[in-house]
Amino acid sequence: MKLVYNCKTCNETVSLKKKFSDRANLKMEMGDNFEMNCSHCGNRTSCSPNSIYAVSSLSNFLIGIASILVSIVCIILLYPFMDAKNISGMFLIPAGLAIPFLIYFAWNSEENKKVLSFNKYRV
Ligand SMILES: [Zn+2]
Repeated sequence: MKLVYNCKTCNETVSLKKKFSDRANLKMEMGDNFEMNCSHCGNRTSCSPNSIYAVSSLSNFLIGIASILVSIVCIILLYPFMDAKNISGMFLIPAGLAIPFLIYFAWNSEENKKVLSFNKYRV
């Protein structure tokens, strides 16, 4: 999860360097109104905790790619154990595919929960 706001000058989405689990923490540390320096246009924008919102971070996408690579590696490693005559060997392919994806989906749903709970709670 990363925290972002829209710059009022250039309308770009700018991410915050600091991390907060919810808007209450953000308000406690940053106050009701604070100035943010836009990394795109350099202008200072005044923000309130409610103008900051959470989005799923890019690492989410990278973990998705990593899951696919881990799946491929799993299949390559399990390949010598596969035997077309032995039915149980055939289950190794879906198992090799499923495990990294299950990890990814568990991580992804946890990430979405954090994003939702941050955006739901307004101060
Ligand atoms: Zn800007």
